[in-house]
Amino acid sequence: MTALLQPVLNPINALTQPNNVPLEPLLGKSMEALRALVTALDEPAFRAQQLHQWIYVHCVRDFEQMTNLKKTFRDKLTERYQVGSLTVAEKQVSQDGTTKYLFRLPDGQVVESVLMYFEERGTYAVCLSTQVGCAVNCDFCATGKLGFKRNLSVSEIVEQYVYVQADSGKEVRNIVYMGQGEPMLNYDNLIEATHILNQSAEVGMRHITISTSGIVPRIYDLAAADLQLTLAVSLHAPDNATREAIMPINRKWRLEELMPALHHYVSTTNKRLTIEYILLAGVNDQPSHAHDLGKLLQGLKCNVNLIPYNPIGDSYGYKRPSGNAIHRFKDIVSTYGKKVTLRVERGVDIAAACGQLANQVQVR
Ligand code: SAH
Ligand code: SF4
Repeated sequence: MTALLQPVLNPINALTQPNNVPLEPLLGKSMEALRALVTALDEPAFRAQQLHQWIYVHCVRDFEQMTNLKKTFRDKLTERYQVGSLTVAEKQVSQDGTTKYLFRLPDGQVVESVLMYFEERGTYAVCLSTQVGCAVNCDFCATGKLGFKRNLSVSEIVEQYVYVQADSGKEVRNIVYMGQGEPMLNYDNLIEATHILNQSAEVGMRHITISTSGIVPRIYDLAAADLQLTLAVSLHAPDNATREAIMPINRKWRLEELMPALHHYVSTTNKRLTIEYILLAGVNDQPSHAHDLGKLLQGLKCNVNLIPYNPIGDSYGYKRPSGNAIHRFKDIVSTYGKKVTLRVERGVDIAAACGQLANQVQVR
């Protein structure tokens, strides 16, 4: 059954001080930043440690519940700060257990995060957004159809994780930046949020994946940063003509530039890349594409993750290939010595799967 979807409306949502200055969120601040903050409020430095525990470990949002902070300090905090600025506009649970959170931001915009359970490994992962909408405009992606609205702040990125972890009551050990937006076009906030998630929320760097459509200069920056995370690259085609037809970004950074950047990334970090490849029937799923992909990736340390197209509406003309075509493609690429996996689709009935995030909720 095709999900009947409706857009979420955008009322303004900001909490402010009496002088109309918005309350500043604490989530997203490092321990040092919290130390500076408590010192500025004339409180001893150890209060920063307590505050840090409350917001990142106990995930408490109400200052009144922070029982080991004295009343005068709680009052000072309440006047100027809030723990986080997101509210949940809607939460939907898919038949497969995947949960989609629609978060309303202070300016009324909405973004999604998706909580997924991986039975084989018994682990939870959350898919985070880094922007509202996306400027890259890949032809097969619902987020691209929204256009670019704005970057998310460090706080807005971090809070998605902290909220989902607390709300679900699960230990969410893995983070994938595969929600709305092109993470590498919000690079500084992405990297700062990643450090906070690692150091304050204690998510292992090795459990974090950044997915990019191929923003070449930022791939070099990320290589220089030398973080132990996984870089996933949305390649989606083995030649410029096919890639350009579905990903306009290929006009700016062609394969002649992208591929050397990927080789540089691997040789600098010694990390294995994930190559993502969407399968669109009749567009990029033919045996010749599979052979070309195998050849293009020769000598590159990577795994290949095939993503059969998830429908985003009837009007875009793309179709998911048949099961046979998908397995034929997988088998051919494997002959080039690559480990090839098929992405299991999740939350399709509530439009929570890859490429379907466009601020919509299913009408019941
Ligand atoms: N902006 C990042 C993260 C996007 S979502 C990027 O483009 O890499 C993660 C993956 O889903 C990307 O590989 C993206 O190309 C893919 N995707 C987008 N739309 C899709 C759709 N309709 N069906 C299947 N995968 C899709
Ligand atoms: Fe943006 Fe990624 Fe969607 Fe392309 S696939 S439009 S880069 S979110």
